[in-house]
Amino acid sequence: MREVITIEVGQAGIQMGNAIWEQYCCEHGIDKKGKRKENEQRDHSLKIFFEEAGNGQFVPRNLAIDLEPNVIDDVKNGEYGAIFNHEFLINGQEDGSNNFARGYCSMGKQILSKVLDRIRKLVDHCDNVIGFIMAHSVGGGTGSGLGSLLLEHLTTDYGSKKTKLGFEVYPSPNLSTCVVEPYNALLATHYLIEHTQVSLVLDNEAIYDICQKQLHIIKPDVTNLNRLISKVISSMTASLRFSGELSEDISDFLTNLVPFPRLHFMTSGISPIVAKTDLETSSNEVYKITDDCFKPHNWFVKFTDFDPAEDKYMAISLTYRGDVQAKDANAAVQWLKSHSKVTLVEWCPTGFKIGLNDVPAATLESDDIGAFPKNAVMIANNTGIVRVFHKRIAQKYDLMYSQRAFVHWYVGEGMEEGEFAEARENLGLLEKDYLDMLKEPQEENSDS
Ligand code: GDP
Repeated sequence: MREVITIEVGQAGIQMGNAIWEQYCCEHGIDKKGKRKENEQRDHSLKIFFEEAGNGQFVPRNLAIDLEPNVIDDVKNGEYGAIFNHEFLINGQEDGSNNFARGYCSMGKQILSKVLDRIRKLVDHCDNVIGFIMAHSVGGGTGSGLGSLLLEHLTTDYGSKKTKLGFEVYPSPNLSTCVVEPYNALLATHYLIEHTQVSLVLDNEAIYDICQKQLHIIKPDVTNLNRLISKVISSMTASLRFSGELSEDISDFLTNLVPFPRLHFMTSGISPIVAKTDLETSSNEVYKITDDCFKPHNWFVKFTDFDPAEDKYMAISLTYRGDVQAKDANAAVQWLKSHSKVTLVEWCPTGFKIGLNDVPAATLESDDIGAFPKNAVMIANNTGIVRVFHKRIAQKYDLMYSQRAFVHWYVGEGMEEGEFAEARENLGLLEKDYLDMLKEPQEENSDS
């Protein structure tokens, strides 16, 4: 048996996590009490994510942590509160105040031993943990600071062989909730570079636009965003939770997507994205859903000025769900390539990994997105992500830090000021690494 443990940190992490578990429960026929429907096929792969308790209840292998009580209380009292083991829903009494240093140093360290103890308990309930998933935002205080602290400890305690996959909400300029988001995001990214093997960059503004423009929601809230995020994540983990036709292990997934360890920040896209009211007019052909996945308006991260020729892919994983035949998927990918819809880096011309899963993505009553028999999710390693780091974090950080603005809040919580410079340097190197990927490969034995 193999298992994956999910760790949700801070408000965004926990709320996103709720939507994800709701999606998983729906796909596996698990009700709000954790009981599985009698007639559900006995696919044991779901035990990678759920533990089957003695009373037949399926309990998420999940730990949720916040520095303050409100969000955790909402989970306990929420619709799906009964599926969780409440021993693994932990909170402190004061919040992270949007300050990385509170999560990483002061408040985070106070709660750390309890959290590590609970993680150990979850691990002890498993035969062979293959990896950890962390859901959090990097713009606040808890998800960014405590999330980074935990990732660091996971590496120390469980070794680098246990894969760590991050679902990270990055700051969006027009939806920012606090001025120091670039500081928090920079500091967290510094840890993500070393301590996750894959980070899915989620950008609320991009998802907000999808909700408004494609799903006709006039004023989307985080619940709308989280429901959409859960669709991408459920497809990303579907091959682990079900036995698909080309099922893959978590490490296959990494091998394909990450040619260099530091360059592991992913862009995602999904299709079809169609409102329930527009269902009848939409095509569900394999080539159409494939093509749409590669259109930036279907992406969960917004690159400024995306250029399909200049922003190159190093690797792409395409997961189809529903009744999709391998030959149709391959033909659609060939079609994309021959019509120059995607540009791959010169040194990695194959680039595509296709996964098929015959269980369609479940549509919940609370979903805004319409149900289709087939859908496609793209997870891609595209060099254009560098601009997200540059424009959203580096530039804004440089402006504020040039005046040392707000730095005293971080130092006051026990952080060394030198961490800022170290993190900034690391981000600069990351940007350079991405840009180097665009250089033409050198001829090894050129006759000169
Ligand atoms: P923390 O609890 O201190 O980690 O802080 P938050 O998780 O609230 O982090 C703030 C960032 O997360 C802001 O960019 C918010 O827009 C975003 N955010 C907060 N809650 C949610 C949520 O439920 N879903 C999504 N997608 N983003 C959220």
